[in-house]
This record gives sequence, C-alpha cells and structure tokens, in this order.
Amino acid sequence: MAGYPFSDIEKKWQKYWEDNKTFRVTEDPSVPREKRKYVLDMFPYPSAAGLHVGHPEGYFATDIYSRYLRMKGYQVLHPMGFDSFGLPAENYAIKTGTHPRVSTEQNIARFTSQIKSLGFSYDWDRCLSSCEPEYYRWTQWIFLRLWEKGLAYEAEAPINWCPSCLTGLANEEVKDGLCDRCGTPVTRRNLRQWILKITAYAERLLADLDMLDWSESLKLMQTNWIGRSEGANVRFALEKGPDAIEVYTTRPDTLFGATYMVLAPEHPLVGKITTSAQKKAVQDYVAASAMKSDMERTELAKDKTGVFTGANAVNPVNGKKIPVWISDYILISYGTGAIMAVPGHDERDFAFAKKFNLPVIQVVSKDGSIHELMEADPTEGVAVNSGEFDGITTAAFKTKIVEWLEKKGIGKRAVNYKIRDWIFSRQRYWGEPIPLVHCPRDGTVAVPDDQLPLRLPEVKTVVRTSTGESPLAEIPSWVNTTCPKCGGPAKRETNTMPQWAGSCWYFLRFLDPKNETAFAGRDAIDYWMPVDLYVGGAEHAVLHLLYARFWHKFLFDEGLVNSPEPFMRLINQGMILGEGGVKMSKSLGNVINPDDIVRDFGADTMRIYEMFMGPLEVSKPWSTRGITGAKRFLERIWRITELPLTDAQPTELLLRVLHKTIKKVSHDTARLEFNTAIAQMMIFLNEVSGLPEMPRSLWTPFVLLLSPYAPHLAEELWVRLGNAPSIARQPWPAWDEAYTAEEMVEIVFQINGKIRARESLPAGTPEEELKAKALGHERIRALLADTQIRKIIVVPDKLVNIVAAI
Ligand SMILES: [Zn+2]
Ligand SMILES: [Zn+2]
Repeated sequence: MAGYPFSDIEKKWQKYWEDNKTFRVTEDPSVPREKRKYVLDMFPYPSAAGLHVGHPEGYFATDIYSRYLRMKGYQVLHPMGFDSFGLPAENYAIKTGTHPRVSTEQNIARFTSQIKSLGFSYDWDRCLSSCEPEYYRWTQWIFLRLWEKGLAYEAEAPINWCPSCLTGLANEEVKDGLCDRCGTPVTRRNLRQWILKITAYAERLLADLDMLDWSESLKLMQTNWIGRSEGANVRFALEKGPDAIEVYTTRPDTLFGATYMVLAPEHPLVGKITTSAQKKAVQDYVAASAMKSDMERTELAKDKTGVFTGANAVNPVNGKKIPVWISDYILISYGTGAIMAVPGHDERDFAFAKKFNLPVIQVVSKDGSIHELMEADPTEGVAVNSGEFDGITTAAFKTKIVEWLEKKGIGKRAVNYKIRDWIFSRQRYWGEPIPLVHCPRDGTVAVPDDQLPLRLPEVKTVVRTSTGESPLAEIPSWVNTTCPKCGGPAKRETNTMPQWAGSCWYFLRFLDPKNETAFAGRDAIDYWMPVDLYVGGAEHAVLHLLYARFWHKFLFDEGLVNSPEPFMRLINQGMILGEGGVKMSKSLGNVINPDDIVRDFGADTMRIYEMFMGPLEVSKPWSTRGITGAKRFLERIWRITELPLTDAQPTELLLRVLHKTIKKVSHDTARLEFNTAIAQMMIFLNEVSGLPEMPRSLWTPFVLLLSPYAPHLAEELWVRLGNAPSIARQPWPAWDEAYTAEEMVEIVFQINGKIRARESLPAGTPEEELKAKALGHERIRALLADTQIRKIIVVPDKLVNIVAAI
C-alpha cells in the first residue's frame, strides 16, 4: 500500500483550519463561567535560531489540553504571540547595520510558519508582538500608573555593567560574575536608573503563593528569591560621637557573641568615623571595592579582606567596646549595610575573625558546655556566656532578647527580605521608551496618556554610545521636546524598559488585542481571567513570574483586573535533552531542528513522540528510535483505513477495550498525563489491528480520542468515516462504566529497594506505564532530583524498583 502521506494531510488541514478560522474564539456570554478556560503558553522570544524542539513540547501539551477541552464543550482561549523587544536583536542590528525591527520581523515570520507547521489550535486573530507600538502603548500606560503611585522612582544605583555590551545588567543577567549575553566579566557603575518598587509587594507575593496550584519546588524558588526572614534591628552606639550603627540580625540571641562590627565600604558612616591614622587604608579599600560586582564580593569561598576604621562601637547587651571594620562582603543594598559579627556562629564572620585575629566567643551550645570553637557553629541550642540569659533555648532567647531590646529602646523586631527593588531601565534602543519628560521647571513630567504610544524614533541602524547611555540620547530631534505641563523646552527620558516589561501583562492583551481605548476591556478580563493553565520553561520560574505577578497585583489594586493572581495553575515542562541525555547545544552538534522532524516524520508524529517520551514535567533525552516508533504507531492507524467499515456490533471484548480506552484517555488527558493516554491508545490499536473489518462504532470514538494528539490525521480519518469537517468541535466520547470495571492492585514504588511510595493502579497495567507512573510520582521525583537513574526493575502488578546513584 501507499505509505502514510503525512505531508499532504498536514498541509491540507492546516490550510483548512486557517481558512475557516476553526480555532477563533469569542466572548460568548451564553457560555457559563465554569465552561470557559484560558490556556496559555509562555510566548517566545523570536530568536534568530528559530524554533527549538524544546519550545513545542509545552505548546503540544497546552494544545492537546485545549483541543480536549473544546470537545468537552468548553470555550477555550488559546493564544500565541511574540516577546519581541530584546538585546539580541539590538546586538544583531549593531553588527549588521540593519534595524532591529527588520531581523525581529523576519524571525517572527519564521517562528510563525514553524509554529503553524506543527498544527497548533491557536486563535491567530489574537496574535500580538510586544514591540509593536499598538502593544507597547499600554506597557507605557501601565508604567505611568506605577509612576503616579510612587512605585517607579529614579535613583543613582550601582549597577552591574557589561563593558562589552555597554549596558547595565540586572542581577539575573549576570552568571558567575560574567555577562549572560557575551561572557565578559561584569564590573560596577553608578548610573541614574528607573527602579520599580517590587519590595512593596514582597509580603503579598509570598503570602499569595498559597492560593496557587503550582509545584512545591516552584513555590520554593519564589519563596527563596523573596527571602523573608524575621529578626531584629539593633542599634550599637559608637564609643565616641553621637552616631550609632544599626544592624539587622536574624540571630539576636547571639548578641553576646558580637565581637566586632563590619560596615559595607559604601556605608555613609565610613567617612565620618574613620580615624586619621586609618584614613588612607580605608579610602584605598573603598575605591578598590567599588570596581567589584556583588557576585565577586559575596562569593563564599573568597578570601576575606577588610580594613579597621579605627573606631569602636559598644555592644548594647554587655557594654563591651568592639572594633568597627569595613569589608566588601557586606553589601550596602542588603539589610542596613552593616552587621554585628558573631564569629562563633557565622561562617563568614569566623573566617574574617581568624584572618584578622579578632576574638571568637561561644554563646550557643548544644548541651550548655563551653569549649573552644574550631569552626563556626550556626546550629541552635542553649545560651552560654550570655549573662542573665544563660541556659535559655535559642528560640525562647530570640523572643526574650527582642523584648529586652525594645524595652531599652535600642532595638526592635523586624522583618527583612532578600528581594531587591527592580532596576527597570536599560541603556538600549530596542525597548519601550519610558514615557517621561525632564523639565527644568517642573521636574519629571509624564507624557499624557492621549499622546501614547511614545514611539521609538526612526533610525537606519543602532549605534552604541561610548558613554553607556541609551542610543536614544544621541538623537537630538527625539530627546529635545516640550514639557507637557508648561510648554517650555524639556528633554525626554532616554532609558528604555527591560525585556521583562512586555511579558508582565501580555496575557491581558490576548483578551482584547485590538482595543484602542484600554489595555483590555473589562468585559473581556472578567470573561477569561485568571489564566487557568500556564505552561512554560523552568528558566522563568523566578523572574518573569514574579514580575508578572507584581504588575498584576498592582493592576488589581487599581481595580483594573478581577483577580489578585494572574496564573492559577502553572506547569514547567521538563527539558528535552540530546540523544544520550546531555543538553542540546550548537557546540555538541546535537541540536534537533523541528523543521527536519516535520519534513521527515510529520507534525503528528512529533506531537505523539514528544508527549510519549515521559511525564510532561521531567527532562528526557531525544531518541531517533523513539520517533520512529511514534511514526509506526500513526502508520498502523492509517492502515486501518484499508479495512472495510461495518455497522456490525463489536464483540464484548472489543467494547471493553474501547470503553477502558475512552475512560483512560479522558482521565489522563484531563490530568495532562499524555504519555499514559498514548500508551492506552496503543493498546487499543493492538487489539483492533487484526480485524477483517472495522466496526464504525469502535473506530469513530477512537478517532475522536486521537484528535487532540494527532489532529491532522484525525481530521482526515474523520472525513473518511463520512463526516463533515471539522473534528475539532465534535463532542468528546463518553464511556460506559459497565465495560470498564477492573481489579485494582497496589503497586509499590521503591528507590534502591526502599519503599518510597505506593499507588493503586489497574491490574495488568503494562510495564512501561508502571515505570512512567513511578517516575512521575511527586515524592519519587523529589527524591530522584539531580540523581542518575541506573536501572528500573518492574514486577508487574507488584512493584517498580528504581536503582539510582544517590
Ligand atoms: Zn555583555
Ligand atoms: Zn515644564
């Protein structure tokens, strides 16, 4: 027979969907609230490299889920767009003398055709691109609302500076002290910056994680980034003069062990308290540390450096004189920029004390005994060498000492966060202009809303300034403007927004992408929001999600959106690794191009293969054998079309297989357990493959089940069954419970022979599925994190034992 003509079939149905706008969705008020779903992918940055096989993995998952929901009678919003401002396009423009818009538009065209070739059910009428003025008009509008509320402020801030890209970098753009974009060592530089006060939302960003259906590991990453701690602010008076040094400590119970203090070199008291004898040494040290990045300064392994200021402070709990030092391991941006050093119980303080011969006093002990400390002991215990407080447990002491400090007026309870305000400006051309004007009379003035968007000036290409300022600063016709308030001469703000800006609210624009009077109409917001399911890469687990949550909370406070959180359920898909389990990379030459897969195997095969590789959330290696297997599965389905169709009743046995398949595929698809759903469809196919003729009542529901997974093939089979297109809006088949009853057995999941979890599963569950169930189990996954699996032993109906190198 002729082979499965996937290429013709796929092109035919992609054209049909496009011509008929099959997946267009409207805000139909007759659809009840609980029958509406918003299923969202993280929109991609259209890089020059094109789509990677890792991109579609998450898109396949949301697409299958969206198609399933539509067939279950839901109104589904499933959009796609492009996060299209960013540094790579600007760097490319500088290198080639073109305009960043040109390469961005080319990349978007390529991404769009690649995405369309994979058969996704997006509503393309809602497609958006964040570099379009019609879009960034509203990014600017939201920025102005933040500014009006005092949540955007200007400050001279020491920023990470890449001397090669000539641009400021956010902390997250610096990896191991190097520029994340070009690998150049990052230095420090003071620049006037726009900063967003995300810290004002720290408490709520933390507390509201409770209302979200996100994985615990993801919540933990956000929690750690926010870094809330409880402790006390304590004032240490200086031996001479009226000044005092304020410190924040999470261990006020160790105050008796504070034997010296350390200030950040930038601390305002440094100049004031340094004695003349120490002046030269201190000044040299301050100058040297100004050149270093935060990363270099705080590396744990780094040899500690510092200089004595010549001044002493007084420990408030025992009146002892303690020396005040400066050292660059203290950052001015964290806490108060000063610490009390407790070398007995803090590693960094211990290393510093040993190096500079400062006293070490033990003030916490496991059992109340006192001994010489050979290293810092940060664990809790009972107080020793702590005067009247001796013998009290650490926890009780913390409460007691804070009360004592508060009573004496030298300290108080305090909460601190690691999260810093967000440096929101970049010295670039290819970003949203910040819509502010600097007037000599009126100060900073907003561009009026009705003059938005404030467009980027037209240029031939982008040229770096040698000052590190934005290229916009060198376009006088754009910079020089009139003040919206007084009409006098004024200058435009030349910094642009960071790439993160456009992705802070794009999910709102999808609701109402053509709206010219608001970022989205309130009706559309109320109709769809919040997002029911959001799927994307784990690399966005912290920043994009924190920034978007912050903006959304702000819009909620302004009464502009209907929910305090934007993304109710979130899943990070696992990585697709190269063959052999290593990361795909250009240098290893193991990058798989989706275009090649579509050409050689077809989009449906790629969909089935990527979803069958394993649970969505785990990382898995690409395998050529695996994709061949997926193709064979679809070829076998295609071969069924050679069988004559019959209206005869299927046998009882076949009915059982069918209804079990409907039940399992329904259940697993709803839970995004696509690999096990596909495994069940394979079982069904094995059962029907030998039939001389195909009962219509058997084949029709199977084709419906297949359609979210292999939509092109299913459309073709649907028509061949004598139906009119499209299968995409057909009702999902129902199962008859009478045919699905089966015995359940308890399967034990072991790691290295130890029982770690149990799950009740149908008797006779195939080995591959048992493996998948074990590997997908939340507890097993947590225990296996970052370990190498050596072997998996399956005893059907009894156990799965994972042999791992732990
Ligand atoms: Zn760089
Ligand atoms: Zn003015």
